[in-house]
Amino acid sequence: MRMPLIAGNWKMNGSLALVEEFGRAFTDVSLPVNVEVAVMVPFPFLESAGRALGETAVTVGAQTLSDQPSGAFTGEVSATMLRECGARLVLVGHSERRSLFGEDDAAVLSRVKAALLEGLTPVLCVGETLEEREAQRTEAVVLGQLEAVFDALDEGQRSRLVVAYEPVWAIGTGRTATPDQAQSVHAAVRGRLTRYDEALAAGMRLLYGGSMKADNAAELLAQPDIDGGLVGGASLKVDDFLAICQSA
Ligand code: PGA
Repeated sequence: MRMPLIAGNWKMNGSLALVEEFGRAFTDVSLPVNVEVAVMVPFPFLESAGRALGETAVTVGAQTLSDQPSGAFTGEVSATMLRECGARLVLVGHSERRSLFGEDDAAVLSRVKAALLEGLTPVLCVGETLEEREAQRTEAVVLGQLEAVFDALDEGQRSRLVVAYEPVWAIGTGRTATPDQAQSVHAAVRGRLTRYDEALAAGMRLLYGGSMKADNAAELLAQPDIDGGLVGGASLKVDDFLAICQSA
């Protein structure tokens, strides 16, 4: 059985006040025991989020990392620093990193490796643009991004990843993939993972992301190959985010 994971991606949003609000809300509420919840906060909030959520079941993650261990890389943050500040997971290859910050498959792979070396769980994000979908290239693009990482890892490393399918056209647009559209890509991803190993494919958590909200989460999460969500906008309002966690 795969334990569902609901991960909030705050992007460059939020504040210390929001961190405190989350801490209070999650302390007061009991989450379903069979769901894992994480919030991926901006770097400066990692430690305070760890403190605010320390008594809850919510884990804290980061949104990106450097592929270098240390050195003259002004403005960068290493995997070791993230771990020291309490991060347990880290997003890698989010479409905004790929499109706005020029991270290609090689850059994504080196970040996944850096995260694994430090014992962080990489949440590998993959997804097609609208143009690619309309050109019937969805599976080619998504599976290509997947293989660029999985081909280069060994068996032990592969099993430590989480994969998030995020169609770029659904991110922040209010245009969610239908449950069928999402399920079909998730099934293709899981199918491709069987080429490495049946057990890997059966155990891999595949999250859906892209305008997941309190009112559409349940039907997405009910799909057989959707094992959780990566939630952007709706993770900034504690009630909405809690409702999504409750529906998992
Ligand atoms: P969204 O973002 O939920 O606001 O569409 C998802 C993401 O980018 O992770």
